[in-house]
Amino acid sequence: MQLNYPALFQQQCYINGQWVAAQGETQAITNPSNGQVIGEVPMLGRMHAEQSVAAAQAAFEQWKQTTADQRADILRRWYELMMEHQDDLATILTLEQGKPFAEAKGEISYAASFVQWYSEEARRAYGEIIPSHRPNGKIVVTKEPIGVVAAITPWNFPAAMITRKCAPALAAGCAMVLKPAPETPFTALALAKLAQDAGLPAGLFNVVTGDALEIGAVFTSDTRVRKVSFTGSTNVGKILMNQSATTIKKLALELGGNAPFIVFDDADIDAAVDGAMVAKFRNAGQTCVCANRLFVHDAVYDQFAAKLADRVANLKVGDGFDDGVVIGPLINAEAVAKVQEHVEDALSKGARVLCGKFAQGEQLFVEPFVLTDMNDEMLVASEETFGPVAPLFRFSDEAEVLARANATESGLAGYVYTRSLGRAWRVADKLEVGMVGINEGLISTAAAPFGGIKESGLGREGSRHGMEEYLEMKYMLMGGL
Ligand code: ADP
Repeated sequence: MQLNYPALFQQQCYINGQWVAAQGETQAITNPSNGQVIGEVPMLGRMHAEQSVAAAQAAFEQWKQTTADQRADILRRWYELMMEHQDDLATILTLEQGKPFAEAKGEISYAASFVQWYSEEARRAYGEIIPSHRPNGKIVVTKEPIGVVAAITPWNFPAAMITRKCAPALAAGCAMVLKPAPETPFTALALAKLAQDAGLPAGLFNVVTGDALEIGAVFTSDTRVRKVSFTGSTNVGKILMNQSATTIKKLALELGGNAPFIVFDDADIDAAVDGAMVAKFRNAGQTCVCANRLFVHDAVYDQFAAKLADRVANLKVGDGFDDGVVIGPLINAEAVAKVQEHVEDALSKGARVLCGKFAQGEQLFVEPFVLTDMNDEMLVASEETFGPVAPLFRFSDEAEVLARANATESGLAGYVYTRSLGRAWRVADKLEVGMVGINEGLISTAAAPFGGIKESGLGREGSRHGMEEYLEMKYMLMGGL
């Protein structure tokens, strides 16, 4: 691996400001593009998870007493270092995750933007003074950092899913222990290296790789951990919520989605195709806000399908470092198997393939699919595919499509394309989701509150609301004035 700053590639964990080597077992990390081993990380467990929590607790005691300016300065420096080392970070990211290098660079600047945003927001943990119910009293509300936060993150955005949590947490005055995804630990460790370089005090940001069950058990049961912030599958979210019940932890859960993408007959079809390309095929379809079900009005169905298939058939699939590649490999064989299952199920129930195919043998590359003649009995209608498959469902009526779009336990994102202002509002209001793209296929930004309803999770990340997640209110009644 060619890095300008080789120290970014760390094969050790980062606990209490120290680099901790493997004490025995290690885990090899492979490049999904070719199966080659990139390096290895320690397989740590309960003991190191507990050490990291203890370190975070001790660091928190000091950090919560710092001024917002002090915290802002360090976060700002961390942001600048991420941007300075954007290419190196993206190289590590593409190697372990597979996404095209240009997309990886985009993720690094997106990830860094959270650190920038919250370096500024650190100054705005405002409280409140509320008119008192008593003549000689005052009701004062202050905001305090919640304490030690445990984060567990997934592999699809190895950098951004971390900074969305740690930036607001650190800005608020909290400390963090992190278990990154087992597939993509090196990006997390590179961020830790830059945190160290930025002068973040020891113990505030700890990265522990290893046994997910053991580390997760400590994170969800240790009384010193006040909040668990998880991004990943709905099933694991439910397990962590259960485990957290015994110590009444606050929870932030960013779970799976099943986003509807609705194209009405009055839509700008070219804009809708552009939107579908990003909403569906970014990160090879491996994002929780990816359009999972594309509902297209009967009157424009064939036109939309032809235009989309034309674009999709020209997407270059391959190694993320190769020129012009926009679709990398899927993360692992299980991911490919799930996509295969969804496509085969649809075909067995009458769907047609406009484009797409699977690679031969062990390869994790999937030529992106466009499927037509979909119906609601097919697996894709109820399950998140998490891969490069655009299934087109036909509809003819606004009320009908809303009912079908909402017929899922997920409620993360939804997209609607229409030129009618009234319809845009009506549909956006009635979609049972946390986020709506109206004539937009890309909705994520540090400036907006990202999150879902129903089984898609709890809490929001990004914007000022994202920092509130790491603050507790304290109400003081001052009497006898
Ligand atoms: P994905 O299917 O995208 O890998 P998961 O929900 O399985 O999503 O994983 C997301 C994160 O949760 C990863 O860091 C993984 O190691 C972690 N994880 C999975 N199962 C558990 C568990 N039982 N306890 C704690 N962490 C877990």
